[in-house]
Amino acid sequence: MKRVLLPLALALLTCVVALAQTAPDPALLTAINQIPALDNHTHVPKVLAAGEKDDDYDALPCSGFLEPSDDPAQARPENPLFLQAWKELYGYRYDDKQPEHMQQLRQAREQVQREQGDNFPAWVLDKLNIRYMLANRVAMGRGLNPPRFLWVPFDDALMVPLNNQEMANTPDRKFFYQREAGLLQRYLRDSGLRALPATLDEYVARLVTPTLARQKRAGAVAVKFEAAYLRSLNFGESMPAQAAQIYAKYAGGGVPSRAENETVQNVLFRAIAREAGRLGLAVHIHTGAGCGGYFQVSGSNPALLDSVLNDPTLRRTNFVLVHGGSGPFPKVTAFLLSKPNVWADFSEQDWMIPARELGGVLRDWLSWYPEKVLFGTDLFPGSSPEYDWDSIGYMVAANGRQGLALALTGMVQDGQITRERALELARMVLIGNAQKLYGLK
Ligand SMILES: [Zn+2]
Repeated sequence: MKRVLLPLALALLTCVVALAQTAPDPALLTAINQIPALDNHTHVPKVLAAGEKDDDYDALPCSGFLEPSDDPAQARPENPLFLQAWKELYGYRYDDKQPEHMQQLRQAREQVQREQGDNFPAWVLDKLNIRYMLANRVAMGRGLNPPRFLWVPFDDALMVPLNNQEMANTPDRKFFYQREAGLLQRYLRDSGLRALPATLDEYVARLVTPTLARQKRAGAVAVKFEAAYLRSLNFGESMPAQAAQIYAKYAGGGVPSRAENETVQNVLFRAIAREAGRLGLAVHIHTGAGCGGYFQVSGSNPALLDSVLNDPTLRRTNFVLVHGGSGPFPKVTAFLLSKPNVWADFSEQDWMIPARELGGVLRDWLSWYPEKVLFGTDLFPGSSPEYDWDSIGYMVAANGRQGLALALTGMVQDGQITRERALELARMVLIGNAQKLYGLK
């Protein structure tokens, strides 16, 4: 009898352990869902008047402008978390997507938008249990007010002043460099300049410094670089004398080579990052997978930032590796968090990969430098009312919290941390680390 029972007991035990590993501790997940979060990275849209368009939600928008490329499976409409989002946000009562039910959903959403008006974005934040949302936008807009919405402007345009013909080596980059040229014109106008100053020193003094000061005054908490969409993140060596010569030669016109352009960009990136640090603005930088069918993933490895992250003159600038090297490079990110001025968020990762895989990434990061890990969604305007930023945000935030719960459950079960510490880490990741980084109460 005993001989029969023992294997049975062992088999049962194995089942229990296996179950425990596939689901997060329910009490821990409940606690995690109740913690109000700071979303470190989003492209939240402003409230629009009828017929109005929002062109400011990204300096380099993908959808609608590039050759179409497929979303990863996790982010597609068939993800069941979208049904859950509609239920939580708009009282959707169905487990299907019958056209008449979807029609009801659109009506329910329109009604909330009418009732809430300019408060609609803040209403969504309450539903998602997000206290602060960093809005990575060219400019803020209707309904996006501090302290709930905090601005992160784009500053790549300041880094690419010269003719970029030789840099635009893919169809996507042609479009992206055109966008940057447009934004640079806007920054020049805002600084009272009609053309590029004649020297690089003057360019920094009359355009870079005043633009960052204006962004700070307007409430920015960080500035953002999407450089990996434009070039490699390897900012090489800083060669100020050569850069000044090249700039002076081409400021009035002409087409610099790729190498010449990069020499100027490498110096300007550092000048912008140094000034941001002086003003107490963090520098956000896209790392890892990016959108568009021509995205050059080899240039988005955060390890390429070595020369910048190890630059002693930039140690007063705090860098955030936005997306934490999503896709191929989270492991590299884990080590880079060892540097005193480097943080990472897992925005986009929670949009792109299911909670189980995300839990693996987070467990690794939390085992290295838990005080450097930040929650984020990367939510953005969708292509239809049912799959717009509110439902995308719900899906991603729910998946992110689930991944965090899985990571912490595993760490508690293995005796790596106590339950109490797990809750403390959850609060740090969801809001506490970011509050410290940005100096928020
Ligand atoms: Zn983004």
